[in-house]
Amino acid sequence: MKILGIETSCDETAASVVLDGRHILSNVINSQIDIHAVYGGVVPEVAARSHIEVINPVINQTLKDANVTWEDIDAISVTYAPGLVGSLLIGNLSARTLAILKNKPLYAVHHVKAHVYANFLNSDGKTPEFPILSLIVSGGHSQLVLFQSHNDFEILGQTQDDAIGEAFDKVAKILGLPYPGGPSIAKSAEKGNPHAYKLPKSKLANKYDFSFSGLKTAVLRAVQHEVGVDFNYPSTMLAEKLSEKQINDFASSFQKTAVETLVDKVVVAYNEFKPKSFVIAGGVASNLELRKKISASLPIQVTYPPINLCTDNAAMVASLGYFQSLNEKPTDPYSLDVIPSLSMKIKL
Ligand code: AMP
Ligand code: ZN
Repeated sequence: MKILGIETSCDETAASVVLDGRHILSNVINSQIDIHAVYGGVVPEVAARSHIEVINPVINQTLKDANVTWEDIDAISVTYAPGLVGSLLIGNLSARTLAILKNKPLYAVHHVKAHVYANFLNSDGKTPEFPILSLIVSGGHSQLVLFQSHNDFEILGQTQDDAIGEAFDKVAKILGLPYPGGPSIAKSAEKGNPHAYKLPKSKLANKYDFSFSGLKTAVLRAVQHEVGVDFNYPSTMLAEKLSEKQINDFASSFQKTAVETLVDKVVVAYNEFKPKSFVIAGGVASNLELRKKISASLPIQVTYPPINLCTDNAAMVASLGYFQSLNEKPTDPYSLDVIPSLSMKIKL
C-alpha cells in the first residue's frame, strides 16, 4: 500500500511516499530554517506563507521522486495536530482537497505520535517489537510513552514546562550560539568541559515527568555570575562577555545535565516495564551524546532513526497513516479540522 504523507505543522513543508509503512519511496523536505534564522525562532505568519508557496511543488516533487502517479497512491495521510494553526491549515487544506479530487482515503495523524514512526522506516525493513518504550524529544515535546500496540499506548511522563529542544534553543540564545540551538550546542559542547559548571536536575512528583525550565534558568544565573552582572542585565548581551572556552564549557555542562536527566528516566522506566524495544524520536534524537549515553545505559541493542528522519518529515506521517489504515476508517475530508494543541492523551 502506497501512502502519500503531508507534514506542515511547524516550519518544514514535507511530502513523502511510503510503501507499507516501512519503505520510503521518496521524502521531500523544504526547510524554512534559513528564513527564520534571522528572527532567532519560528515566526508563525512567515511559516504559513512559506508553506503556501511551496506545498504544491513539494507534493509534485515527491510523486516524481517516487516514480508514481496519482493512480498508484492508495491513501493520503496528513498531520492535523498539534502545531502552529496557520501551518497546520495549509497541509490540511491541501490533503483534504487532494483526497476529494483524487478520490483517496484520508488519514489524520498526530504529529508527536508520528515522530515515533520514524523508527519503523528502517532501510532493512526491521521494525521495533512491542511493547515499545519511546522517548519523544522535540522542540515542542518531551514525553516517555509506552506502546503495547499501535493503538494502545500510555504516557508515562512528560515535561511540566519547557520541552527539551526548547531548552537547547533558549540556552543557545543565552550563549550567543546560532539558531537552531540544538545542533549549535552539540557542536560547541564537543570542545567544552562537561564538568566545568554544576547544574541542577529537577525532581518531580511523578518520577517520569520532566522539567527543563529550571535547568535553563540555572544556566542563565551561572552565566550572569561568571561574567559578574546581576539579574537585571539584558540576557541578549551576556554572550559578548563570555570567552569561547566559557561558551563551550557552558554548552557542554548543559548538554551533559540535560542528557543525563533524560537517560536516568529512561533507565528507570526500562527496568520497571521491561519493554522488548526502546526507540527515540524527535529532533533532539539527533543528539549524538544522547544516543551514546542511551546505548551505554540499556541492556538491549538500540537502533536509531537516521538524522533526517528525527526532525520533522512526512515519511513518518505516511508510516503512521499506513498503520492507522490497518485499524481505522478514513476520516471525512469535508469535515477534518486542525487541532493546534491536542495532547496524545486524548484518544485520536
Ligand atoms: P522537532 O521539534 O522534532 O522538529 O525538532 C526540533 C528541535 O530539535 C529543536 O529544538 C532543535 O534545537 C532540536 N535539535 C535538533 N538537532 C539537535 C541536536 N543535535 N541536539 C539537540 N537538539 C537538537
Ligand atoms: Zn516535530
